[in-house]
Amino acid sequence: MTDRPKNEPVDWHALSTDEALERLESHADGIGSTEAKCRLDEYGPNQLEQAAARPWWKRLLDQFNNILMLILIVAAVASQFLGHSLDAAVILAVVVIIALIGFFQEGKAERALDSIRTMLSPKATVLRDGKRATLDAKALVPGDIVLIESGARVPADLRLIKSQRLRTQEAPLTGESEPVEKSTDAVDKDAALAERSAMAHAGTLVVQGNARGLVVETGGSTQIGRISEMLQGVEKLKTPLLAQLDRAGNVLAAFIVGLATFSAAFGIFVHGKAASEMFMAAVALAVAAIPQGLPAIVTIGLAIGVQAMAHRNAIIRRLPAVETLGSISTIFTDKTGTLTRNEMTARAIRLEAREVRLSGVGFSPEGSLHEACEEAEGEAEHEAREEKGDALDLAEYPDLERLLVAGVLCNEAELSREDDHWHIEGDPTEGALVVAAAKAGLEASTLRDSHRCLDTLPFESEYRYMATLHEVDGETRVLVKGAPDRLLEMCDRVRRNGEEVALDTEAWEAHIKELSARGLRVLAIAEKSAGKGQQLDRDDVEQGLVLLGMTGLLDPPREAAIEAVKQCLDAGIRPVMITGDHPETARAIAEKLGFSHTEKALTGRDIEDMSDEELQACVRDVDVFARAAPEHKLRLVKAMQAQGGICAMTGDGVNDGPALKRADVGVAMGIQGTEAAKEAAEMVLADDNFATIEKAIEEGRKVYDNIRKTITFLLPTNGAESLAVLLAMLGGMTLPITGLQILWVNMVTAVTLGMALVFESPEADLMQRKPRAPDAPLLNLFMLWRVIFVSVVLVAAVSGIFFWILDQGGSLELARAGAVNMLVMGEIAYLLNSRFLVGRSLSRLGLFGSRPVLIAIGLVVLIQLAWTYLPFTQALFEAEGLGLLHWGLILGAGLGLFLAVELEKWLLRRFHLVADERAASNASAEHQQA
Ligand code: ATP
Repeated sequence: MTDRPKNEPVDWHALSTDEALERLESHADGIGSTEAKCRLDEYGPNQLEQAAARPWWKRLLDQFNNILMLILIVAAVASQFLGHSLDAAVILAVVVIIALIGFFQEGKAERALDSIRTMLSPKATVLRDGKRATLDAKALVPGDIVLIESGARVPADLRLIKSQRLRTQEAPLTGESEPVEKSTDAVDKDAALAERSAMAHAGTLVVQGNARGLVVETGGSTQIGRISEMLQGVEKLKTPLLAQLDRAGNVLAAFIVGLATFSAAFGIFVHGKAASEMFMAAVALAVAAIPQGLPAIVTIGLAIGVQAMAHRNAIIRRLPAVETLGSISTIFTDKTGTLTRNEMTARAIRLEAREVRLSGVGFSPEGSLHEACEEAEGEAEHEAREEKGDALDLAEYPDLERLLVAGVLCNEAELSREDDHWHIEGDPTEGALVVAAAKAGLEASTLRDSHRCLDTLPFESEYRYMATLHEVDGETRVLVKGAPDRLLEMCDRVRRNGEEVALDTEAWEAHIKELSARGLRVLAIAEKSAGKGQQLDRDDVEQGLVLLGMTGLLDPPREAAIEAVKQCLDAGIRPVMITGDHPETARAIAEKLGFSHTEKALTGRDIEDMSDEELQACVRDVDVFARAAPEHKLRLVKAMQAQGGICAMTGDGVNDGPALKRADVGVAMGIQGTEAAKEAAEMVLADDNFATIEKAIEEGRKVYDNIRKTITFLLPTNGAESLAVLLAMLGGMTLPITGLQILWVNMVTAVTLGMALVFESPEADLMQRKPRAPDAPLLNLFMLWRVIFVSVVLVAAVSGIFFWILDQGGSLELARAGAVNMLVMGEIAYLLNSRFLVGRSLSRLGLFGSRPVLIAIGLVVLIQLAWTYLPFTQALFEAEGLGLLHWGLILGAGLGLFLAVELEKWLLRRFHLVADERAASNASAEHQQA
């Protein structure tokens, strides 16, 4: 390679394409993979430095930036002044522990998110060893030839060597949001960045056309790399749920300060207690009321959810989506590749004079062509007859050959074989045509070599056709393939036995309908002669074409999608198909998939004819929207949202961006999707599969359910502690538990037990419930009731043990040890209740069904025994070892609490008292047992 110091800039835009190729010792077919490896070592990977994460000390300090933490710190400082150094030390220790837990959990969650983000690393299509290959953009080296098309993010700085109507949006680089036109002509050496039309710069977005470019700079040497080495910031961990918790924390803080001040004053003025004693009691009240472990548990719950989703191929790009997923009531989904397998196989070819059938499956070119038997009834009989029939001889069917050749030329897909597996590089719809021709003995590479391609209008969903210009038999010919209804408008003649005759539009419309009703995707192919030296021009291409015929492509539904559609319907979620395909094809596939309203399909044109109000009125009754374009997607989302729907919307193209952004959860395709779509989406499907959306929703519902369970579980402990302290203060009595003991229970036992609920498996009826209302409060009336109910039962048990021990002549230390152990036992019992908010826990499954719960209980029992009997903890927490009788009572009271909550659940179910909890039904509990 021509020597140049690595950092010396070269004016690539001013060099001709040949000069640029020469300089990098490359050629139009790219470099070899061995050479690429050497260059990768020399230049390093094609990536920008990651932004440095927030420094660790900043993240740690952030943990203290929380009003509840501030209350604890004030309490510790004040305790120190009042001479209670031990209390001050322990409260401070707790503050530090909470901060550390938060710090490490947040770090872990952020790392988990980061590792998921790397799963989304951009890809690039390159020519290596003369063949097309898809690589991680990181692996690009100077000298590579890259293919870009609309929707792609340009992966490196490219000197364009071939460009077809390429327009890029360079806002990240120049701030200019209007797309700019590109060409291959060199520009002036001093041209400003925005005027270097011969270059496509890394980080800019292709909005139209396609091109080939020579990679000239990679990684930090690209223009964007020079402007900033730090592009990708780290997303902060914040979701509506966490924000809601923050707000609740502020309200709670104000409430605690008010209540503590009031009860301390009450103690001093009414009962004549010492101010310092009342202050310490107020501190105990404050630490009792604050659920210190909650934020950490919720964060972990969300992070676990994100990881579980990634495991199931749903990659979350924005964290709030984890929660929104649980509320989704409508999924607008693409058809091709998402609901179907995108393994197109040509099954039928309709010519003016006859229909031809093709045998064989998938992309394997094994199979043959036969005349269709008019008298056969049904597909099965057809196939049986064709098996026996002789394969067609192309020489006798010139119209067929012409159509097959045009289908291969107006086409960019390549068929290749790896081991025993045939696959397509490029669009499967086009691949099907290459395979069909191969079955008739026509080889794509030979045809393409002998019929040079002069110009291309690539396929774009907006126009629904693709056109190419070729040299065929010494003349220049325009070849067009595309949606049949679109092409019929563009044709006025049709080929019949080598002649051009007038087109009978009605007859062909009937053919389209008949093929589509069989669930086949129909593609029409047409041609016309062009003048020498002519370029393709849409106005010209769109008229005066001669129809060659139509092919019917089979794209079977994915098995998993059929199952997922059923599950969605059970879960009160409506899948709605939005496709660019023909309405009849779409309807036939929707029917096979089990959609509920398939009798009617609306088209993009119907949508255009409707006002917003009319669209809103019908959007709930139609499940199939066909011949739809990206702008129709946007209107459909808006209409559904106006009707109160919470929508997921899938998309893959550059124009899907607005609809994806507008949807509550935008879902991009990981394989077929463009970078533009992925960037606009909240979630990316690594496998492009509809079933993955359903699984992600299930996971989202589970995460939310488990977080609610954890909150309902944790709060009564705080409730009971606060009540115990408050009653003692107001009654002028000794506290049944000290502030230190309260911190122990909150920080150690409650957190250990609460964490187990985050790992709960989904309840059996999770996907039989209606979607959650998005504005539903985290703590609804039912949960509030449950918290108060359990708090009261628990405080009664705690006070009962405390006073009973004192009554029996036990010491204050012994009575307090009894109270603490009662509290922990109550937590253990209530943890089992909390596994199902309303479903029955009194069953083998309820009691022993969750390993994390059993482990947490075992752990807490051990810790608590140590706490009670070790001299060190006894001294620290001012406790005394309990006797057998005490344990008996505590166990009995724990059992009582468990049964009381089970009875409450039974009453709730029996009298259907929890309207918004479908689990309240007996059916759900029975389901559970099954
Ligand atoms: P979706 O993925 O949204 O379900 P789709 O992939 O069927 O829909 P488009 O790709 O927009 O939608 O295709 C619309 C129509 O354009 C197809 O029905 C087909 O007739 C035609 N078409 C698709 N791909 C090509 C192509 N590569 N060349 C020419 N025509 C095509």
